[in-house]
Formats: sequence, C-alpha cells, structure tokens
Amino acid sequence: MAKRATAKRQASRSSKTNPKALSPNPKSRKHVYFFGGGKADGNRHMKDLLGGKGSGLAEMTNAGLPVPPGFTISTEVCNIYYQQKGKIPPAIDREIAANVKRLEKTAGPTLGSTENPLLVSVRSGAKFSMPGMMDTILNLGLNDDSVEGLKRRTQNGRFAFDSYRRFIQMFGNVVLEIPKEAFEHEVEAVKKASGAKLDTDLDEAALRDVVARYKAVVSKRAKREFPQDPHEQLTMARDAVFRSWMNARAIEYRRIYDIPDHIGTAVNVQMMVFGNTGDRSATGVGFTRNPATGAKEFYGEFLINAQGEDVVAGIRTPQPIRELERVMPKAYKQLRQITTRLERHYKDVQDFEFTIQDEQLFMLQTRSGKRTGYAAVVIATDLVAEKLVTPKEAVLLVDPDALDQLLAPGFDPDEWKKIPVATKGLPASPGAASGQVVFTADQAVEWTEQGKQVILVRRETVPDDIHGMFVAQGILTATGGMTSHAAVVGRQMGKPSVVGAGDLEINEGRKQFRVKGQTVKEGDYISFNGLTGEVKIARVASKPSEILQVVDGALAPEKSDIYRRFETLLTWADKFRRLGVYANADLPDQAALAYAFGARGIGLCRTEHMFFGEGRIPIVQRMILAETEADRRKALDELLPLQRDDFYGVFKAMRGCPVTIRTIDPPLHEFLPKREELMVEVARLEAAGSDGRELDDKRRLLQRVEQLHEFNPMLGHRGVRLGITYPEITEMQTRAIIEAACRLNREGVTIVPEIMIPLVGLAKELRDQKAIVDRIAVEAMKAQGTRIKYLVGTMIEVPRGSLAAGEIAQDAEFFSFGTNDMTQLTFGFSRDDAGKFLKIYQEKKILEKDPFASIDVEGVGALVRIGVERGRKTRPTLKIGICGEHGGDAASIHFFHQAGLNYVSASPYRVPAARLAAAQAALAVRVGD
Ligand code: ADP
Ligand code: MG
Ligand code: MG
Repeated sequence: MAKRATAKRQASRSSKTNPKALSPNPKSRKHVYFFGGGKADGNRHMKDLLGGKGSGLAEMTNAGLPVPPGFTISTEVCNIYYQQKGKIPPAIDREIAANVKRLEKTAGPTLGSTENPLLVSVRSGAKFSMPGMMDTILNLGLNDDSVEGLKRRTQNGRFAFDSYRRFIQMFGNVVLEIPKEAFEHEVEAVKKASGAKLDTDLDEAALRDVVARYKAVVSKRAKREFPQDPHEQLTMARDAVFRSWMNARAIEYRRIYDIPDHIGTAVNVQMMVFGNTGDRSATGVGFTRNPATGAKEFYGEFLINAQGEDVVAGIRTPQPIRELERVMPKAYKQLRQITTRLERHYKDVQDFEFTIQDEQLFMLQTRSGKRTGYAAVVIATDLVAEKLVTPKEAVLLVDPDALDQLLAPGFDPDEWKKIPVATKGLPASPGAASGQVVFTADQAVEWTEQGKQVILVRRETVPDDIHGMFVAQGILTATGGMTSHAAVVGRQMGKPSVVGAGDLEINEGRKQFRVKGQTVKEGDYISFNGLTGEVKIARVASKPSEILQVVDGALAPEKSDIYRRFETLLTWADKFRRLGVYANADLPDQAALAYAFGARGIGLCRTEHMFFGEGRIPIVQRMILAETEADRRKALDELLPLQRDDFYGVFKAMRGCPVTIRTIDPPLHEFLPKREELMVEVARLEAAGSDGRELDDKRRLLQRVEQLHEFNPMLGHRGVRLGITYPEITEMQTRAIIEAACRLNREGVTIVPEIMIPLVGLAKELRDQKAIVDRIAVEAMKAQGTRIKYLVGTMIEVPRGSLAAGEIAQDAEFFSFGTNDMTQLTFGFSRDDAGKFLKIYQEKKILEKDPFASIDVEGVGALVRIGVERGRKTRPTLKIGICGEHGGDAASIHFFHQAGLNYVSASPYRVPAARLAAAQAALAVRVGD
C-alpha cells in the first residue's frame, strides 16, 4: 500500500507532463507482450504498460518460476479502445492472433481443439491493484465440443463440466451482463435435486445439467446463444475487461485512491492451470508476512479442489496455509522457497496467488502486499533489521497517510474488560471500532451524513459496498477469511475489520442479527477490536493510541515496541528530507505535542485563537466596542499581559525553535455575538419590561454588530487591513511578543520570534505595519533592558501578494504561503460554501481533487512558484514556508519540495506524516516505484 501510494503520486504527476501517454501510435508500437518458456518480453519495470499483474507475471517468468505461459495486451490498448469507441484496430487484432499462435506452440494444446483444447484465463490488471474492482474470466476456450475433449484428455468428466459451467457463469456475468443470481439460482436447484451440500458434491451428470440450464439462462437473458467460437469468446472477453475499467465501482475506487482514469488496464491472457481436478489440487492466496500486524510469518489460505475466486468469494471457508504443509508437503516447501525469493527480489512483502494442479505448483500473481499502517511500520523496520532494504528504501515503503492509523485511539482496556465478548471473528484489520449497526452501504453513507458513527455489518462485503465501507467506523462480516474482500479492503483503508464471525445470523431483510441468543437491531451499538477479533454489544469508550501515550509521557518509550519503530522510521526520514517541518499551533499544549511529534518550529500561531480563551472575550469585545482610541487602548492594555503569557508559553514549549506569530486576522464581528441572537435577546428583554443596564448593553452591542456587518467578510475588513486601521492592535501584539521573548532570553533560551502580517497584497501595507513593529520592538527592548533578534514577514495569500512578491520582499524577511485563503481567492471559491458544488465538480471530473485538501498545482501552485521566484530575486536568503491545510498533505508536500520552500507547517497530528512525506519528496527523484 505504501509503495502504491508513492508510486501513484508520481504517476499522477508524470501524467500531466506526458501527453504521450494519451495518444499512443497504434501502428508503430508493440502492444502485446508474451511470457512463457522461461522468457518474457516484459519485466518488473513495465507496470505502466503491462499493469502490475502483467509485469509480475513477466518478472516471475524471467526468474524461471513456474508460471503458466500467456501474453499481456498493454494498457495503451485500453486507451485506444476508449478513443475508438470500443473498436480495436485490425493491426492490434493481428498482433493478438499471432500471440495466441505462439501460446499454442509454447503450451501444446490448441484453442478450441476437441482433442487437446487450450483453456485460458482473461485477467484484468492495472498499474495499481484494485482488488475485485474489475473482471477476470477463467476457462475460456470451452464449448460443447472442447469440453468433451477436456474430459477425454483428463479422464475426469466432473472436472471438465465443472470448468465449463464456471466459464459460462463468468462469461455470462462479465461479458453478457447477466446477474450472478440467475446462475446461482440454477445451481442451487440442481444441488437440491441431487441432495448435494457443496458445489464439490455435484457429479458429472449433475454438472451437465447445470451447464444445460446455464446455456438456457444465457439464451433467455442475453437474447443470443452462448458463443461457441473460442476466438469470438476471447475478443468479447477482452473487450469486457476493458469495459470493466469504467464500471461504477472501479471509478469510485479510483476516486477514493486518487488513481487517474487515463492509465487504463492491461488484459492478461494466460493458459489455465487447474486447482479443481480433485483432491491433489488446490488454489490459494497468501502473504510473505502478516499484513495486519506485520509479524514475520507465512500467512494465507487455500482450498482443496477449487478454482480461483473460490478462496476470496467466501463460499467455502478456506484452510490456513500451514495446513498445506501437512497435505502437500512438497508443493508447500516449494511455495515457501519461491515466495521468500520473491520477497528478497522485490524487497517488499509479497501478496501472491498460486494454484496446485495434481501436486504441481504454479504461480499466478505476485505484488507488493497491501497492509495496515501498523504493519507497514513494523515491516519497514524489520526489513532494515534483516538487511533486506536500506533505511532509505524503508522510508519509501510507508505511506505517510498510513501513520494516521497508528495515532488513532484504541479502547480503554478497563472499559473493554467489563463487557462480555458476544462473538469472535477473524482479526482482519486492527483498530478499535464502535458505532451503530447498519446493514447496507447506502445506509452507512446516509447515517454518516447525519453525523452518526456506524459499523457496517454484512454477511460478506462485495466490491459495490465500497462507499459504505469508506465511511463506516468498522466492518464486520459473518463469512469470508482473512483474504476476503472485506479483509483486503479494510486493511487497505486502515478500517478496523473483523470478518468471518460465523456466529452472527444476519437477517439483512429484517435489519437485525442474532448472536448467541441476543438480537441486535439496526441502530444498536456494537464495538469490536480488529486486532483480536472480539465483538461486543455495547458502546465502548476509546483511549489514546500507544504512540500518543508515549508522546504525552504516560507510557515509557521502552515499553512500546511500536513507538520505537515509529520513531526509528521518522528519524530515518529526517535524514533524507530537505524541507523543514513546522506545526500550526496556537496554545502551549498544542505546541508541546507538535514538538514531541518532531515539529521544529511553529509556522502559524493564530493570536486570535487566544482571544477566545476563558474570560477574554469580554475584554476583546470592549476593545471592539470602544468608540475612542483611548478606550480601545485601555482594553488592549488588559489584553497585553494575557497575550504575553500565551506567547511565553508557546515559545517555551518550542525550546528555542522558530515561532511564527500572526497578528490578528479575522473580521472583528467574529468576536461578537450573532446579530440574530442579539435581536432575540433584546426583544426578550424589552418584552420582559426591563430597562436596566443589561438592555442598554445589548442594544449597544447590537448596534455595533450592525455597524460591523459585512456582505463578504472573507473579503472585508480583516488581516492587515485591521492593523492599518487600528494600529494600536499591532502595537499591543508586538509588545506582547517582544516582552515574552525577552523574558525567555533572560531565562537562557534564545528565541527569535517571527512576526507575520496576514493578507498583504501591497508592499506598502507591509511597510506600514513593519514600521509599527520596529518602533514598538525598540521601545519594548529598551524597557526590558534586553536585546533580541526578531523577524518581520508576511503571509502570501492574496494572489496580488505573489505577483508583487518582488517588491514585498524588500520589507519581508520571510514569506509564508497561506494556501487556504490563496485557494479561496484564486478560484473565487468560498471555502465555507464550496462543499455544495465541489463534489459535483469531482464527479464530473472538472476537478480531480478537492483543491482545499490537495494543492492545485496548475493554478495556486503557479502563484506559489511566482511568489518564490520574485521574492528570492529581491532577497536571495528569503525564508519561505507554507502554513495552509496543505502543509500536511503528502501530494502537496511533494510540490512544495519541488517549489523550493524551506518548510511546511502542518497540524500537530500531521507532523509525523509530513516528516515522512518530505523525505519521500526528496528521495523521489532517485528512487522510483
Ligand atoms: P483479481 O485481480 O481480482 O485477483 P485475477 O486475474 O488474479 O483477478 O484472477 C482471479 C483468480 O483466478 C485468481 O485467484 C487466480 O487464482 C485465478 N486464475 C487466474 N488466471 C488463472 C490461470 N491461468 N489458471 C488458474 N487460475 C487462474
Ligand atoms: Mg489476483
Ligand atoms: Mg489567511
């Protein structure tokens, strides 16, 4: 997961600069890549073209591993398919036909032969794995004649017809778009009639019956006969896989994971091997390490006498992989050797698929395993300890966003102990989840929008549930194993998940489930622990994560293994990054937390947040209501010692690191009560016949509120405009800052405060304010008898500020890009109102991402670059940072690194992620995906 996220970021960047990716030349280029017979046209570095699956198959083939031969139709063909409105140029068709011939020659059997038929799988596979989102078809090449050939050749009629009916079902569903239930209905009917419990209990005669029924379903539903020509089957399957790239769930998945649409999927056509020929055959999936905890243990599941999807579909419950050692020791040993080799080769945990046909092992897929944030940190540090990777490589193995999971709360163990365990499932994805039960993905979304916290409870999840899984606190299923859909997706999203809790009798229709005699209805609270699999019927309070406990000093670092690993990884990251990481913190305790997380500076301390502190609002209001400057100064004098103490606390918490303090920014009416509320109160007091002071005060307040009312407060009297109209506010704040710094300096801590003027667009605005700051600073230092260094700078957040940066830098000793306001002002989107339409913009692909969450590189980014360039031209040593929300966003951090900033400033909890992202940004040039 980690690697994928980093790679993805690089992909979305390169896509913008590489229009070639969109317009391949169908005539001159190779579009089909063969693998087989110990050699492949492709390799691991060709994920863009071959997709992850295709490049893995090529790499494994080249390494001499047992991989069934086949060929990969490149992702470019997918784009051509869409550009040409669903048509593939004849040249590419010919290239595919030539590869079918080559495959027949390498493999032996022939497509459609009645003597020795070649069967193939047609598998989707994009650059980034999208589990279960697209389609795959197995056993292609079977028809009414070749199925008899398969029977003759294998002497196994049951197997031949089992394969045929699977093929018709998959083809019918994926290509002809017939609902799965239509087929399942028939197989259930046959099972009932023949008294079979499992699919594997059906004999040849029963399966022949199933095949006949399936064909009838096809001709009735698709209004055509099931295609008998294998070449037609292949073409139709290929196109269906291309179409699956644009199915709703794949689109949704790409939206969530920020994967661009234009990269397309490859199609892999591969000779079938069979895990369903009998008890000496099997199919399975696994990981080289535990993807939930990161523990170094062989991990996975398999099913005897089964094919492909059976393991993940949750139809039969698979066996843990160590059982394979007992039933097929030779194949098991070989599997362990191969997968260990793959892990060393790829220098990362591998997630693999295999099939054993008559005790002979075949590898069908390998890729970097998706893992939880917890596991990512454990694995990265373990791989370094085992000397498989260097610290530099380890830093690239962890997705910065995944660190959030390590900071997420867990249950308070004492509270948790009090409640009995209702049932236990498989611990698929760690974390503490507590919420109200819902039974459908849509309901999960609906309730979450109403502000509820929900747990999605399903018999098993399907890819269509993805939107509900995304919003839920956790996912709980009754069937399925550790590699079921719910488990895989849960881990990837970092969602606590418990799967296969077999005791749950779920009745989705009645919106309830029963467990051990208790009935739980929709809306009832449940809680579960994704690390142990325990489920409880109650709401359980959570407690801070282990890492936070260490950071807060409640737990000794020696006592927490995960803290030590976290710290080790981030210390490595610090070695490679060039960007400084600061935090946005307004109060001493926030500053202390940020420092503990590794922030070595404060990029934004918002002084007005201090105005909201206890007992201060009345003073602030008096300042605002003052009718004369003298009255205003009186109120400001009261505020001065309070602000000075605040600043002193923040400076002290940062132990001498730079602290950037912004002078007052918001429009003043934010500190006054709301107009409507005041009107109601005045009316109430009038009605009560009161004529005392209270009514007078309220009336005066209302009048001032009305005076201060603005049509567009965000564009109104705020920022530097306040300092210019009320210089005494700037004076007071400067005095408080300088006095606090002097005091700390006297106590032996050198601190260089950076005084930051917001919302500057004109050089003369800053000049005006700087004159005040300098004058007061000199006065204050003289009065204190202490000399300190301080800087005066500005926020660049008005587009004009960037454009005029050259002139502004004559006075500014530093810049800090305020990318929140700058995004707002560049787009003309009000941040508070944009929610309404931004979602639709994203749906319609007018915007790929929310520009308030991830920097708009083309627009706002261009202004940042202009500001940097012009500012540094005037003042080459200009210190430049960013303090918007984007300072904690990994993709944005990559941009800020490239733009040559000195530091990013993020919220305290995002500081670890920012440290890691900054390192990855610095390493990205050298280390690819
Ligand atoms: P996904 O990307 O959803 O995992 P795959 O293309 O990997 O889809 O195929 C799904 C399943 O089908 C895999 O578990 C694999 O075991 C099985 N499969 C695919 N190709 C073959 C093949 N050539 N022989 C046997 N099984 C196959
Ligand atoms: Mg697969
Ligand atoms: Mg601002």
